[in-house]
Amino acid sequence: MQGEDFERAFKQLRDKGVKFFEVVFQDLGGVLRGRVLKPEKPDDVARGFRIDAFSTGFSGVEDSDATLLPDLSTLRVYESSIGRTGFLIGDLYRGGKPMETYPRNLLKKWEAESRYKVLLGAELEFYLARDYKPVDNGGYMYVSPYSTVYPVIAEIVTKAEEAGLALKAAHHEVGPGQYEVLPTPMSPLALSDAIVFLKKLIWEAASARGLQATFMPKPFNGLPGNGLHVHISVHDGDRNVLFEDGELTEEGRSVIGGLLAYTVPLILFTNPTINSYKRLVPGFEAPIYLTWGRGNRSTMIRVPMGLRGASGVVEYRLPDSSGNVYLKALAVLYSAERGLRERVDPGPECRVNAFLADGYPRIPGTLGEALEKSLESIGKAPELRDLLSKVAELEKGEWRRYLEEAGSPEASEVTEWEVKRYFLG
Ligand code: GLU
Ligand code: MG
Ligand code: MG
Repeated sequence: MQGEDFERAFKQLRDKGVKFFEVVFQDLGGVLRGRVLKPEKPDDVARGFRIDAFSTGFSGVEDSDATLLPDLSTLRVYESSIGRTGFLIGDLYRGGKPMETYPRNLLKKWEAESRYKVLLGAELEFYLARDYKPVDNGGYMYVSPYSTVYPVIAEIVTKAEEAGLALKAAHHEVGPGQYEVLPTPMSPLALSDAIVFLKKLIWEAASARGLQATFMPKPFNGLPGNGLHVHISVHDGDRNVLFEDGELTEEGRSVIGGLLAYTVPLILFTNPTINSYKRLVPGFEAPIYLTWGRGNRSTMIRVPMGLRGASGVVEYRLPDSSGNVYLKALAVLYSAERGLRERVDPGPECRVNAFLADGYPRIPGTLGEALEKSLESIGKAPELRDLLSKVAELEKGEWRRYLEEAGSPEASEVTEWEVKRYFLG
């Protein structure tokens, strides 16, 4: 059955002039991996292929075979550096069953079993660079025609749309050479797949012009970091239950409460790398305290305000694009759902500049501290314990290597070691 579906899809691909296709997946640390294949043998593809689950973080070395099966529903066609290309995201299986340590499998399961219909939007922030330096001198919403990167941005937007991925907007961000694109809200799984595809598309567009695109959380000392803010809404039929008449409802408050309560236990999912914590410093619109507010970009959670009251989403400003994106969506879905079920009270809103305030609980300041605090509190999210231990194992290795090879545990400056390791994804 699957073979026939592939046959049909691949015939369409060949008719559209597709010469290659990529079957990709994000490893546990978020690195995009995959194979480039010719679309002449759909059967081979339908059967999937074997990958090393140890080198990709999903299993021990003693039991390291897994099968990557492409998920046909993820198929997109775009122009990559090797020509017209079909893009497919795969799932990992073992013994005929979805592998439990593969985040996409888990997110799929959680989404299917979720009691609420959660939609997620996102701001995917990145820098365009030449020789590891920002490519322009622009700032927030810079629209000067002197910008040499206008064509790159136009290409990203056009190609995303041609590939069937609608963007809500794209604009210059606060940093020089910094941009963001905003996919429209969709299910947590669809959004994660969209981010995987968009990152690839953006890398391709940059590299075609001899530029680099970096999603690293803090690529440059003294300049704003790259966030992956997540916009959350929860729906009952066509009603968004988080707001009524421009005001937060009880449900809206509970989602904020859930995010605040589960941030620390799940922080290795949302902010998994050493560099993640170099972004979380005062003064760059990235959060440092566990706070929420309205229209307040110094808090970790913001209710964006529109023309008449709240604009319909709760914005979680903590996550960044490093690491596995399915883990981030899972963390958000889990926190929102637990908040709703447990009717978690978010406490008072922060109405001041949180960077100048005191007395709020702090977000962990280093990966070392994040490892310690999340493992201490994981009892709060028992269903995710196994996955968290797996991620913690990986990140403990990163932390150890960093301390041996690069920095002191408290250093807040971005090191060359990080740039080498994370800049190009
Ligand atoms: N670049 C900021 C960050 O690191 C966010 C800027 C904004 O408010 O969009 O989260
Ligand atoms: Mg932004
Ligand atoms: Mg934002």
